[in-house]
Amino acid sequence: MNPWFGKAAFIVSLISMMVIRAPHGKRSGQVKIRESRKGRLEIALLVLMSITTLILPVISIASPLLSFADYGLRVFPFLLGSACAAMGLWLFYRSHADLGLNWSISLAIRQKHQLVTGGVYERIRHPMYTSIFLLALAQAFLLSNWIAGPLYLLAFLLTFPLRLGPEERMMLDTFGDEYGAYVKRTKRLIPNIW
Ligand code: SAH
Repeated sequence: MNPWFGKAAFIVSLISMMVIRAPHGKRSGQVKIRESRKGRLEIALLVLMSITTLILPVISIASPLLSFADYGLRVFPFLLGSACAAMGLWLFYRSHADLGLNWSISLAIRQKHQLVTGGVYERIRHPMYTSIFLLALAQAFLLSNWIAGPLYLLAFLLTFPLRLGPEERMMLDTFGDEYGAYVKRTKRLIPNIW
């Protein structure tokens, strides 16, 4: 099928992500940070994620620079990618709404930070990361380019194991047993549905 169907679906998904995140970034940015654990590695990983989800796709869509890595788009990956994007966007929206003013792009505890264990957080400990995983899968299926398609997924697979440990340690240091009990009753990325 025409690769532009995949590119168009990806563009809609990327713009939706930005539209969902923008008001949360603005609102939570007004709440002061009490403790930041943003190190050099964290900054490097955030840059890597931005390059692979924004810059490489824009280059591959808007210029011929990466066209040597293009391949044909097929119907099944297109449908699978669209389904992953739809599920990912819903969860991305819900996790931002449930986390509210406690959200940060990096590892930080805000003033009056509250431990959120309701909404989608009742069933998954890291729903936003699950949503990003789904959106990275969507990108890999929708962009039929061997570089711009899968690299965000690879960046995610590198970033999140390195981030989860320090994030959970920070939450445990801040919320103690309350977080410990939450860890016991939830899984990291897979919802507890029974
Ligand atoms: N890992 C979570 C949140 C990602 S945003 C998810 O995937 O949904 C990252 C910030 O969220 C961290 O800096 C931390 O301060 C905050 N955070 C993570 N889990 C939280 C929770 N259950 N309640 C409140 N804040 C949380």
